[in-house]
Amino acid sequence: MSPSTYRGRFAPSPTGPLHFGSLIAAVGSFLQAKRQGGAWLLRIEDLDTARNVPGASDNILRTLEAFGFEWDDEVIYQSQRGHLYDAALHTLAACDVTFPCACTRREIADSCIAGLDGPIYPGTCRNGIATSKSARTMRVRTRNGAIDFVDSVQGVISQDVACEVGDFVLRRADGVVAYQFAVVIDDAAQGISEIVRGADLLASTPRQIYLQQLLGYVTPNYAHLPIATNAVGEKLSKQTLAKAVDAKNAGAWLWHALHFLGQAPPDGLKQASQEPLWAWALGHWSLTKVAKRRVIVADEPGSDES
Ligand code: GLU
Repeated sequence: MSPSTYRGRFAPSPTGPLHFGSLIAAVGSFLQAKRQGGAWLLRIEDLDTARNVPGASDNILRTLEAFGFEWDDEVIYQSQRGHLYDAALHTLAACDVTFPCACTRREIADSCIAGLDGPIYPGTCRNGIATSKSARTMRVRTRNGAIDFVDSVQGVISQDVACEVGDFVLRRADGVVAYQFAVVIDDAAQGISEIVRGADLLASTPRQIYLQQLLGYVTPNYAHLPIATNAVGEKLSKQTLAKAVDAKNAGAWLWHALHFLGQAPPDGLKQASQEPLWAWALGHWSLTKVAKRRVIVADEPGSDES
């Protein structure tokens, strides 16, 4: 890929302050873009208003700035892009690949077997809704057959979306556009050429590739980084009380993020400020050094003797 065409992105959800897990995705996606002279874009994924925390978007942007990240173009907010999602939904409906579904979560949970991401939808409303019921969600029809891709970190990934996930939701019962759908439209609209993000989203990627195919979009490259867990194996998140990164100690957080990503930053930079760490990282970043693992226990500042 020529340097000028590389476009990467970081797409945090504003559910709380940036923690070590989100810092890793930010650092990995940023360095992968900048090492290739590419652009790095920011997108705030704030569609799920029930999960948004007031002030979190600004807090994330201020923290990224204080850490020394620089982004290209304007930050985009998914909450302002409903017209794009509506248009894409119309496109798919016109091709008869979507259908309204009246099933409640409870009905599906009671009648289905567990799949990769919740119960596998059994196709109840595929051929129409019972007259006594009304539409709740909009789903996409899946097709049997494997979707394969080569992830630059995790290797060959293959998933039969129809068998392993089933017809999935594009618009939820509360009217909110599903993450799987919005992400595909925005990555295409922003011209993203490579998606570097956490491996917790690896199982979502075949669904996203399927939607790209239906919408006639180019499939970007993918690189799924190991995700950081706490000592008991839980993904760092707001729910698991991950601590917020501290911009006053940005150098130490960056050193640990680079160490987590297998880059072997020199011990001599452990106490350094962010500038020398960025200079070193921009000169040494290589995706090939990232461990080919889905999860790694986090070693954050304060969790060792450093
Ligand atoms: N918004 C998602 C998150 O914060 C990331 C989505 C993506 O990178 O595709 O986990």
